[in-house]
Amino acid sequence: MTLQKLDAEPHRRFNPLTQDWVLVSPHRTQRPWKGRTEVTDGAAAIAYDPQCYLCPGNQRAGGARNPNYTSTFVFTNDFAALKPDVEPARQDCSGRGLLLSESEAGTCKVVCFSPRHDLTLARMTVPEIVKVVDVWAEQYAEIGSQPYINYVQIFENRGEMMGCSNPHPHGQIWANQTIPNEPRKEHESQLAYLQKHSTCLLCDYLELERKATDRMVVENDHFVALVPFWAVWPFEVMLVSKRHTSDLVSLDSAERVALADIFKQLTTRYDNLFETSFPYSMGFHQAPTDGERYPEWHLHAHFYPPLLRSATIRKFMVGYEMLASPQRDITPELAATTLRNLPAAHYTAVKPR
Ligand SMILES: [Zn+2]
Ligand SMILES: [Zn+2]
Ligand SMILES: [Zn+2]
Repeated sequence: MTLQKLDAEPHRRFNPLTQDWVLVSPHRTQRPWKGRTEVTDGAAAIAYDPQCYLCPGNQRAGGARNPNYTSTFVFTNDFAALKPDVEPARQDCSGRGLLLSESEAGTCKVVCFSPRHDLTLARMTVPEIVKVVDVWAEQYAEIGSQPYINYVQIFENRGEMMGCSNPHPHGQIWANQTIPNEPRKEHESQLAYLQKHSTCLLCDYLELERKATDRMVVENDHFVALVPFWAVWPFEVMLVSKRHTSDLVSLDSAERVALADIFKQLTTRYDNLFETSFPYSMGFHQAPTDGERYPEWHLHAHFYPPLLRSATIRKFMVGYEMLASPQRDITPELAATTLRNLPAAHYTAVKPR
């Protein structure tokens, strides 16, 4: 394949200074841009929106029509950043990795959590969230079983501040051929720790945190939500399974209920913090799906919320943070105490909005 042709297809480019890769999706410029919409607190007031491309029965921008779904609904993104039918190619123009690019095959899916336009995970019931957990597990297994898929990234962007203009409760799954930067680094660290100490990094870490208790936010029988010792974002949280397991598929039904329960407990506290539908980017880190064994991988999810002091005051990662290192003022211990001490009931259930 010629460089021009490779440049027209989804590919990744290597940064020789940082050793990271950037995903490039040139075909995606055809995507409709709806413009910036009014900033709201993130949750919609109506159960069905005729203009929403995710509501049941509505037509999407690509022309397809959603079924009249009643719980969850998964479809392939109409303007996916990744696609399956990419001709394998690799270019290293300098021969020294200075202009190195590779084709990248993959797929992007959208997961609607509920037919109700006005709900969020925090406002859904635990049995409703269990259905979402089941879909995530099912999709991880199904997408991951495709020979060209080696890593499945499940995530949710919640709120306008995180670039998500549609309040309809939904998440995304991007899955691809290579292991992306963040999970690759976490894989290398977990493997090195296992080789050095013969134990799991996150199992050991969780034991320390459960003894210390000052960074714990909520806990149930099978999961823990805590502000990691090394947290960057003001109210960053990590969800960790108590049992050592590498993916969602291996969770039994009691663990799936516990995961749904801790999602609800955490997102409710997030909403209560500034009495707003709290924005965040959330995603799971699970073992790669390339058929290898990953005994060092410990299932967890990260929540990265941008808010700092109120519903509108956000933390920016600029200047020193972009160029040198992240920095924070409020300690992770204080953030955890603040979240832990918030009421367990959603603020909208306590007082009318
Ligand atoms: Zn909707
Ligand atoms: Zn572990
Ligand atoms: Zn992680």
